[in-house]
Parts: sequence; structure tokens; C-alpha cells
Amino acid sequence: MKFVSTRDAAFKQYEPCEVIKAGIAPDGGLFFPTAIPKFSKYELIGMMPFSYADRASRVISAYLTDLDKADIERSCREAYGESSFPGGAAPVVNAGGTYFLELYHGPTCAFKDMALQLMPRLLALSVKRSGAKGDAVILVATSGDTGKAALEGFADVPGTRIAVFYPANGVSEIQKKQMCTQRGGNVAVFGVDGNFDDCQSAVKAVLCDTATQEYLKERGCFFSSANSINFGRLVPQVAYYVSASLDIGEECCVTVPTGNFGNILAAYMAKKAGAPIGRLICASNRNNVLTDFFKTGVYDRRRKFYLTSSPSMDILISSNLERLLWLVCGPEKTARYMSELKEEGAFRVDDRTMAIMRRDFAAYYADEKQVSFAIAESWRRNSYLIDTHTAAGLHAANVYKKETGDTRPMLVVSTASPFKFAPAVCSALGIKAKEGFAAADALAEFTGLEIPQPIAGIRGVPDRFTQTVAPADIAAAVRSFV
Ligand SMILES: *Cc1c(COP(=O)(O)O)cnc(C)c1O
Repeated sequence: MKFVSTRDAAFKQYEPCEVIKAGIAPDGGLFFPTAIPKFSKYELIGMMPFSYADRASRVISAYLTDLDKADIERSCREAYGESSFPGGAAPVVNAGGTYFLELYHGPTCAFKDMALQLMPRLLALSVKRSGAKGDAVILVATSGDTGKAALEGFADVPGTRIAVFYPANGVSEIQKKQMCTQRGGNVAVFGVDGNFDDCQSAVKAVLCDTATQEYLKERGCFFSSANSINFGRLVPQVAYYVSASLDIGEECCVTVPTGNFGNILAAYMAKKAGAPIGRLICASNRNNVLTDFFKTGVYDRRRKFYLTSSPSMDILISSNLERLLWLVCGPEKTARYMSELKEEGAFRVDDRTMAIMRRDFAAYYADEKQVSFAIAESWRRNSYLIDTHTAAGLHAANVYKKETGDTRPMLVVSTASPFKFAPAVCSALGIKAKEGFAAADALAEFTGLEIPQPIAGIRGVPDRFTQTVAPADIAAAVRSFV
């Protein structure tokens, strides 16, 4: 398996291990395989009796062909075992005739664990395979969920160190507690005086700063990335769509609550790999830039940014759409669209490209009222509790079915534990809204469900990390950490 950059018309090829190690292509494009591996019906049926870890390892090995199969298998078993996923890694649950793929049973209660429990191991294997020496230093700017998932994934993984930067006053009480109590000898967490954009810009500047790169090199280290632009985060996600389609056993449509377009792109790759998947429904919240794109063919980020009750979908630049564009219309057009997005804030794709995309994708969004209503209705009708992101998905799935009359089974991807967003879920259920841990208590009492251990277990634990830095001091913080 070889990889190319989505913006390179010369199709320069890269080995899988280089792709995982580098994270992003030198020309600013994203890496993608030259062909999506295919599984025959018999190969798929053959995976049915496997554990989740073994199904995942079979899928991932088809992409990362320069890593040892036995190493990948061992990594998957470590990543997806009972200790990290006590409720099973990716169970499919039927509630009122809709299937839900519950991806939030990991150590941080959001679906990002599915990739980030495994990816650090894939990175360590790739670094070894590429012959590079020294520690990979991972810098993460986070608005909440990714930071904690990356910390849990990289904690005490040999050959790696990780520093996370979050906006000191921009994350929820539970998210802050999750990060500041992080265990591990190779981790650091810093609050930043500023908002998420300040964090992200400052971290990007440090990653590209040649003086800091040189400083790391002298100490035998190098930078790498844990964002969803890294293919190493995408490939573990393909596995759970293949696995879910085996569990359902007939062709189904899939609805994905979408932000950066990574998760739904993984679903598309599973479909192209031969998994029996029908239409893919892209669900957004009030930040509905993708809904408009699939409707009109124009991607326009020049619009108001809303803070919603589903913050992990509050995003106006969906980076992984670039990979879909590349698949449908090739590197020249993709490079042009991306440069228009950067220079002008918008691009329009040609009609043929749009027609091809609409065959596989539909897109809908839910406003705040519709999100609340979906949570309340799911609980009232089916006693099934969903979080705000999943609620946007359920709303989109219902509108799609009504509009198209598509009667195939529907799989809605459940991306976070409702307890992680307890204040908004409480308010949707008419429970007097409270803050963080108090809201989780109220939700547990109202529903009779238990607060997941990763959230219950950090309550009252003293913070290990209390330092706050100015954006301009992030480079100095990285140096002292290294
Ligand atoms: C990250 C996240 C999403 C969006 O996923 P993308 O891969 O960025 O599209 C949706 N829901 C939750 C809970 C998330 O943490």
C-alpha cells in the first residue's frame, strides 16, 4: 500500500510508516492511499466470529502493509481490551427500530478514544519501522474532547511525549478536571490565557518554528501530530463501520454527527471497502456549512460561528472533506479548491463532482431546539439516553427517512456519553439545569443510569497540572517540557 498527498499532481508516493509519522504531507495536503483495500463477501463473513480487536486488526493491516501483522494484532488487543473498554469497544444497540453504534465506552467517554487508544501504538511501530531515532513529541491544541483522548492514548507509551494546551476559561468543568488530573510520566497539560483559536494558532506556530524543531533535534526528539488530519487516526475508525455492518447483517444507511468530516469519511471508506453500507447522512448542528455544501455545491465558511450544546461539532473548516474531494475529482482541482478556501473563504465544486458525491451522501442539520427534542423523544419513547451530538444525528436520520422514504435499516453513530454533556441533556429532559458534576448526579438520579467510571472517578481528585501560560509563552513551555 502506497500513499499520496491530496494536493500533489505528480503523485509522489509514501510508505504507510512515513505517513503515520509525518501526519501531514509536505505540501500541506493530506495523505490518502492510492487504492482503498477491498474485502470480498467471504472475507467479511470470515470476520464475523472475531472479537472487535481482531476485526479491527484485519481492517487496519490492509492499509498499513509495512507494519508487522502480529504487531498490529497485539496493539489492537491491548487498545480495545476490557481494561479500556469495559462495555465492549463498539456495541450496536437497537432502540425503537434505529440502530446506534455506541463508540463512547472508552476512557474519556467520547468516540475519539476509538482512534486515540490505538494510534499511539501505530505511531510507535511506524517510527521504529522508518528507522527514526528518538521520541515523538505530540503537541495538541484542544477545545476539550481531543486533548483528553490524546492524553489517555499517549500516557506512558514508550517513545512518545505529549503536551496539551487548552483555553483556560473555554472548557467545561468536567473536561478541565479530566485533563488536569491526567496520569503518566510523559504528559503535560497547560491552560492558555486566550480562546481556542489563540491556542491553535500558537501551537501551529511552534510546530512550524525551525528554532524549536532544531532544539528538539539536538535532544533526539521530533514533532508529530495527533489531529484527525493524521491518517493514523482515520484508519482505526474504518474498522468500527466494518464491524457494525457485520453485526447488523444487512445493508444499512449510516448517519454520522459530523465536525471535521473525519468520522463520516471513515464510513465512506468502509463502504468502498465492500461493507454493506447504503447512503451516508452527514449530520451537523447549527454550524451547518456542510449541509449547505451538499445542497448547493458551495462551501462557504464566511458565516457566523455559533457556540452550541454540541461543541465538538462547532466547526467551520471540515479538514477531511479534502480527502473526499481528492477521491472524486483528483489533486489539481482539490489543490485549487483548498487554495480558494484559504484565500477567499469559499469554493464552488463543479456539477459532475457534486452529482457523484450526492449518490453516496445526504446532509441535514439540527438546530438547538431539534437537538433537545430528539433527546427528550428518545428517552420518552424508548428509554434510550443520547448526548447532544448523537441527537443531531438522530434528527438528521429521521428527516432523511421521511424525505426519501428509504426503508433500509438506519445506523446512527453515537459519539459521546450523555453524562459528558450532562447540563444540556438535563435541560432537554426538563431537569433543572445544573453545572458539570452536579448535572451528572441529577441525570443519574432521573434516569437510573450510572455515571461512567471515567467521569465519576475524577471527582474531587486534586489537579496535577495547574499552570497557565500566555499564548506567546507556549514555545518556552514546550522547551522546558522536552
Ligand atoms: C469530534 C467529535 C465529533 C465530530 O467528529 P469528526 O470526525 O470531527 O467529524 C462528533 N461528536 C463528538 C462527541 C466528538 O467528540
